[in-house]
Amino acid sequence: MSTAARPAADVLADLTALRAGDPPTHGGRVLSYVYDPGRPDLDAVAAEAVRLFLPVNGLDPTTFTSVAALERRLVAFARDVLHGDAGTVGSVTSGGTESCMLAVKSARDLWRAADPGRVHARATLVLPTTAHPAFHKAAQYLDLDVVPVPVDPVTGTPSAADVLARVDDRTALVVVSAPSYPFGVVDPVVEVAAGAAERGVACHVDACIGGWVLPWWGDAAAPWDLAVEGVTSISADLHKFGYAPKGASVLLYRAPERHRAQYFATTAWPGYPVVNPTMLGSRGVGAMAAAWAVLEVLGTDGLAELVATTRRTTDRLLAAASGIRGLRVVGAPTGPLVALATDESVPPAERVDPFTFIDEVRRRGWLLQAQPAMDQPGGAPLPRTAHLTVTAVTGAIVEELVDALVAAADAVRGRPAAVPDPSLAGRVLSEGLPDELAGVMATLEALPAEVVHPLLVQVLASAIDPSRE
Ligand SMILES: *Cc1c(COP(=O)(O)O)cnc(C)c1O
Repeated sequence: MSTAARPAADVLADLTALRAGDPPTHGGRVLSYVYDPGRPDLDAVAAEAVRLFLPVNGLDPTTFTSVAALERRLVAFARDVLHGDAGTVGSVTSGGTESCMLAVKSARDLWRAADPGRVHARATLVLPTTAHPAFHKAAQYLDLDVVPVPVDPVTGTPSAADVLARVDDRTALVVVSAPSYPFGVVDPVVEVAAGAAERGVACHVDACIGGWVLPWWGDAAAPWDLAVEGVTSISADLHKFGYAPKGASVLLYRAPERHRAQYFATTAWPGYPVVNPTMLGSRGVGAMAAAWAVLEVLGTDGLAELVATTRRTTDRLLAAASGIRGLRVVGAPTGPLVALATDESVPPAERVDPFTFIDEVRRRGWLLQAQPAMDQPGGAPLPRTAHLTVTAVTGAIVEELVDALVAAADAVRGRPAAVPDPSLAGRVLSEGLPDELAGVMATLEALPAEVVHPLLVQVLASAIDPSRE
């Protein structure tokens, strides 16, 4: 097989054309996935940092000493922001999922090491239903059992007593979020961490989304980071509110022993001695370099300023949303994430269905994220919601967004909620996703996990099927 060489300009034009089909990654109209500070100067610094570090391999920081220096600096920066102390150590990873999975891996290995009878035993992971799927993925990859804890559908958080009631000898790690992604509310970190410590169990705070925002959010909220005794590890994504390009997160441990359990080392081959602190072997360091550069250019004052804008914008949206009849805000969010559910306290004729609403908001040029309803094992059902992640850049156009939300709600108020349509599954597989997603989401929501999981895999796998090119 051979392909003819093409002029670079042509190839780059192709890439540009592909990107033109994406939703806008800048400007604040996509309220998930992307984190735009609205500062082109920061984008330029990040791009230059990536360019400088593009050829470097983070596999071996003893050869590329620049990588060790960058990682030390980022870990030190995070340690100071997240109230670690002189004993705090950690790693820069490729993202939140890797940070969470590594926290589980080290917890599992320390749990096993604590008792010879546990060498081949299965540990458990105790987590609220709102915890990020990265922990379910960790459990699946690393052979742990998830013990879910229901959250209150009104506050969006679990009670500390409910979490601790599920902790036993098999528990390798208890997870709490600051805040959780679906509802943007902070779990009872102080109580859970104290109870876990009392039982000799590790406690991870997933601050993937909050770690670079909450420190400047400004509420006298209860402490949620390493300042809380009993918190043994914490994750904070640089590629979210650290405004780094995708591929950077930091994972901190209160003490070195736990961090060491994360490492993989081997000499069982005739090649170079292998030491991997994280899951990857060869490691790109562009995102890490960009993360450091962006943080340095901003400084903590710059971060605080961006958070202040984000907070004003979030407060404006919360105020507007609570004025929209038929919708309600879930819980009392701390941070820039907002979830809107149907207000069941008004008559059906005045209710707004989040999925139908999202389609209507999209028609007006804004992308919200649909979150299906969920039956909680041992708890009350959680409603379907519309999710918004607010970033600083949306501040400049927040009134436009408010107008779009109000108009979209007016357009769909009283319409029956989107219902499942079993024929949609087949149609999505053959024709791809329709423009209106309400029916698709309602169908996913209604189907049992054994049906939905392979279906989701099939949709995503067919999207990258080479025979479609
Ligand atoms: C984003 C997120 C993660 C996972 O991070 P990725 O960077 O998407 O892998 C984990 N936990 C929370 C709370 C998050 O918001």
